[in-house]
Amino acid sequence: MNQNKELKFGLIGSSLLHSRSIKIQNAAFQYLGINASYENFEISLDNFDRGIITLLQKVDGLNVTIPFKEKILKYLNRADALVGKIGAANTVHLTEMGIIGYNTDYYGFIESLKKIDKLHEKKVALIGAGGAAKAILVALEDLGVEKFYIYARNQLKVEENLPRLDSNKVEIMMLDDTTNLQDIGLLINSTPVGQGRLSEETPMDIEILQTLPQIATVYDLIYSDTRLIKDAQELGLNTINGKEMLIRQAMKSIQHWTCAEPTEELYKVMEAAF
Ligand code: NAP
Repeated sequence: MNQNKELKFGLIGSSLLHSRSIKIQNAAFQYLGINASYENFEISLDNFDRGIITLLQKVDGLNVTIPFKEKILKYLNRADALVGKIGAANTVHLTEMGIIGYNTDYYGFIESLKKIDKLHEKKVALIGAGGAAKAILVALEDLGVEKFYIYARNQLKVEENLPRLDSNKVEIMMLDDTTNLQDIGLLINSTPVGQGRLSEETPMDIEILQTLPQIATVYDLIYSDTRLIKDAQELGLNTINGKEMLIRQAMKSIQHWTCAEPTEELYKVMEAAF
């Protein structure tokens, strides 16, 4: 890497006002002594193709967020095996060998679950089935989870969008169906319900959460304490929000771009900037 040239990175998405990536990424580059900048590139869905072609001529790497994690695939010259399995990329690296795609949500999610004991013995309920859910499902399968229930409002769309998984392990449920919740060890929200204009809402009412066993963990991918997280805490359940996943996926992106190791010291620096 030529240390004299400033490297340019950024986040592409359609709504980036509340994103924390810009803060944590710039703090990381400063700590690592890497001459690099990171900025937001907000592009509307209709302008994606025009916008991305111009952007790919200007940057060294990108993070990709809603709603472009699948749309970016056709611009990649190569992708690592995980991108193929998941069907989405959230990190792009422009190299001499072409444009390479990675999925670091997978890594960030797995790293954020390290504190959960015997995860493979637990049944998992996943609310939502969009881009993040695909990485999560592949990660859960790789971690040896035997059964996942996907709670969604549109079952047909879920079936069309799922990554290739062992069909015996997956059951698709309607959002208000509580049949299996008493056996769940980990419940994950992968919908945007609880953030932005939906910040007062919850994807699962407290009356339904009450049917979870007391040992269950409730994980919200949103990185603030949402109503779902607060309700779960009120019921005495363990909770995790999306902050650690966000930071760890960002650290993995930096490693792809610059080879910097994702150390715990770096985590602390990025957490302080969060
Ligand atoms: P996405 O691709 O747009 O998928 C969203 C999913 O939520 C879809 O299945 C969608 O269902 C469902 N949904 C949306 N609104 C809903 C509602 N009102 N009620 C029920 N279901 C609803 O988004 P994504 O990329 O998967 O991201 C989802 C969330 O995870 C976002 O809040 C994002 O910020 C967060 N996230 C966090 C991290 C992290 O590192 N912490 C990483 C990735 C994502 P339909 O298909 O029926 O619309």
